[in-house]
Amino acid sequence: MSEIRRDPTTGDWIVVAPRRLERPWQPESFCPFDPGAPETGHGWDVLILPNRYPVVSADTLPPRPDGFYETARAYGRALVVVETPSHDLDDLSDLPVEQIEKVLRMVRDEAARAASDPGVLYLLYFRNKGREIGVSLTHPHSQIYELPVVPERIARELERAEEYWRSRGRCLHCDVVARESPSGRSLLRGTRWTAFVPYYARWPHEVHVYPLRHVQLLTQLDDEELAELARVLKAVLCALKRAVGRPMPYMMVLHQAPLRGDHRYYHLHFEIYGMYRPDGRLKYAASAETGAGIYTLDTTPEDTAERLRKALASCRRDTS
Ligand code: UDP
Ligand code: ZN
Ligand code: FE
Repeated sequence: MSEIRRDPTTGDWIVVAPRRLERPWQPESFCPFDPGAPETGHGWDVLILPNRYPVVSADTLPPRPDGFYETARAYGRALVVVETPSHDLDDLSDLPVEQIEKVLRMVRDEAARAASDPGVLYLLYFRNKGREIGVSLTHPHSQIYELPVVPERIARELERAEEYWRSRGRCLHCDVVARESPSGRSLLRGTRWTAFVPYYARWPHEVHVYPLRHVQLLTQLDDEELAELARVLKAVLCALKRAVGRPMPYMMVLHQAPLRGDHRYYHLHFEIYGMYRPDGRLKYAASAETGAGIYTLDTTPEDTAERLRKALASCRRDTS
């Protein structure tokens, strides 16, 4: 049984899902995402599978009301996006750009499907990379959570963007892009997307990727935008991999609007957190970060951008 509980002191949602304890932890001999495994079969190049140990699911019962605390039914879907049949590829950036594009199209299709489910309010798409940050399976994959609540960090961004829109009549994120993309923190600018290390980076190698068009949802992106996004993600992730001399563990999260309601003031983007410091040591979210939400950075976003631009150039040399 899963349920969602709310921390009344912060507004955070916590998905209580004890059955997740049973999921396999870095198994040596068998990979459930390989072709021919019981749930995958053969003849595919990208596959979206139901997560066998889901945080939310359609068959969850409503929680017993507490009377004091706010709870929500852990309704929804948890999915795994198997990005390639090749178990031994290291990262999304190692796939051909057409394959990455196919992954993105399938996620967009799933987002369109999710939008028609009245029980789902938010689609969270994310990717964890690297054993050091706790991936349980190394076969290249990303994940989708279709949730009945809006995650609190997203809710905070929505609030600030709405306030800016109301007081200044403009999109906060468009203004950030206008400020960042010609700056020393810029990594690349295409015709439809831009990538930069934000002025306000919290993690040692943090990169934000924005569509230049003001859109709120993955489903609003057209085929040309997805095709360029595939190229940009491949380049940025390749740069992360090369930035400090050994493959960088990272987290990548799509920030988009909730699936329902009017959120025209919001602007979708990807946030990528590369977790190594320049010396190749892992940055931990310890007391200050986790307990108080104040981040310390042992480097500057400007130096990070410089390092990543060099890595981007090296990636470009090898692919041309
Ligand atoms: N998983 C699955 N089928 C299996 C074994 C594992 O769907 O046969 C799921 C597992 O529940 C986990 C995901 O695959 O959520 C692997 O995700 P990852 O390692 O990125 O991070 P985790 O979700 O474990 O924190
Ligand atoms: Zn905008
Ligand atoms: Fe964001």
